[in-house]
Amino acid sequence: ARTAIVLGGAEDDAPRAIDVPALGVGPGGALRFGELAHAVAAVSGRLARAGIGQGARVALVAPNALGTVVVIHALLALGAVLVPIHPRLTAGEAGLLIDDARPDLVLREPALAALLDDAAPEISALRERGAPAAEAARVPPPDASGDLAIVYTSGTTGRPKGAVLSRRAFLAAAEGSAANLGVRDDDRWLLCLPLCHVGGLSIVTRCLLARRAVILAPRFEPASVLASIVRDRATLLSVVPTMLLALLEADRDNVLARLRAVLVGGAGAPARALDECARRGVPALTTYGLTEACSQVTAQRPRDPRATEPGSGSPIAGVELRIEGAGSDGVGRIEIRGPVLFRGYYRGPDRAPELSVDGAGWFGTGDLGALDAAGRLHVAARRSDLIVTGGENVYPAEVEQVLASCEGVAGAVVFGVPDDRWGQVVAAAIVPEQASPCEAGGAAPSPAWLGDLAAVVAARLAPHKRPRRLCAVAALPLTAAGKLDRAGAAAQLAAALAPFPPR
Ligand code: ATP
Repeated sequence: ARTAIVLGGAEDDAPRAIDVPALGVGPGGALRFGELAHAVAAVSGRLARAGIGQGARVALVAPNALGTVVVIHALLALGAVLVPIHPRLTAGEAGLLIDDARPDLVLREPALAALLDDAAPEISALRERGAPAAEAARVPPPDASGDLAIVYTSGTTGRPKGAVLSRRAFLAAAEGSAANLGVRDDDRWLLCLPLCHVGGLSIVTRCLLARRAVILAPRFEPASVLASIVRDRATLLSVVPTMLLALLEADRDNVLARLRAVLVGGAGAPARALDECARRGVPALTTYGLTEACSQVTAQRPRDPRATEPGSGSPIAGVELRIEGAGSDGVGRIEIRGPVLFRGYYRGPDRAPELSVDGAGWFGTGDLGALDAAGRLHVAARRSDLIVTGGENVYPAEVEQVLASCEGVAGAVVFGVPDDRWGQVVAAAIVPEQASPCEAGGAAPSPAWLGDLAAVVAARLAPHKRPRRLCAVAALPLTAAGKLDRAGAAAQLAAALAPFPPR
């Protein structure tokens, strides 16, 4: 098989290959680029003998682990198409994706461990001999052809869709990210997002192309992520907003302020989390992205960490963005164009991917937003989350921000419920902070406290945006990707809703 991407150990960057770990898994667990090249050579040899070559689809059902990254690199080297699948999906859920992708090979435990064990003696032998020149690093040329992965969307709006992403798209995405953040010699990107989503996978490809270290967190656990930032000298971190909130809560020593950037994306970040970052000097940079665009579409630029900026930043290099059908508030459909875009949704091995771009190459993201005078994007809502009440548009995130900023409210999810008179009305589920607003011994907030909450909300939101139904929940409903599950909340909590303010 032709080697499209081989890792590390190149003669021209040999000193760095020796000095820079490619992947860190805590003390003593680092794998240097040269060693990674050996491991990749051994594993790709095994896969090639099993018939995996250019264009073969390989589903990888595996956790964030060193071996998983070695296999990902081996598949890249072989020109195979990776189909990453979350290891925590149930057999039924994973089965749906596997049926859809119809891979040539499914790699999961115990076969995955056997593959790595089998290659282990060869890896150590190669290590002793040193990296053969043939395994030297070659970054794929910018016109690299072929697909790199079929990545399934989170399934927030229904069944996950397999986005076919080319090598060219990953290259363009890596270049856009590097142009935004810059690449520093000491960069080490701490990866705690799942490798099966584009946010996690693109950290591996960005670091591969920039020849920088990835520090791999086996799972997201705030204390160990914070410890790893210090121990492994991480400089970059990518998180979804729920992770940022958990990290801020656990970060007693202000470890997050040591990083040079904390990218926060995947969903809108709560204002209170961003304000807290600014107060503590944590360099949070918001970003908006989607699987179909190989991760980032817009991102904030590095700046003084104590300065807050509204919105999700401006388009990264290589992405064009326009707002179509804007209303009087400037909010319209977000459309994007550029080399980061996917080739379409996978429809089986014999059919071309389903293209969903118009003749001029514009892709409708399904999100609504506005651009401000400075060219920054403000994401208002997913089109499917938009609440239309009496002909007025209500963006759930705006109402959630107001509710979450009220005293005694730890978090909120807002959704529309059908209403005979208004078409839809706004409904909310709140998570009360500890037991404070609840009646003694009870789980539900007291009517008096709810009355006060309604008064605060009325002072800050126009009548059509105010929740008319409300319930209290112990925790916010989240999707497997850690995003607020507004559709799930609407389906599951309808029966628990009571009139608001309480009568
Ligand atoms: P599916 O496409 O299966 O419904 P999904 O849209 O959640 O799931 P992803 O590609 O993982 O799939 O997520 C992209 C979506 O996440 C965007 O289309 C947008 O709705 C949301 N999103 C990402 N970044 C932001 C942000 N900064 N602010 C608000 N929403 C965001």
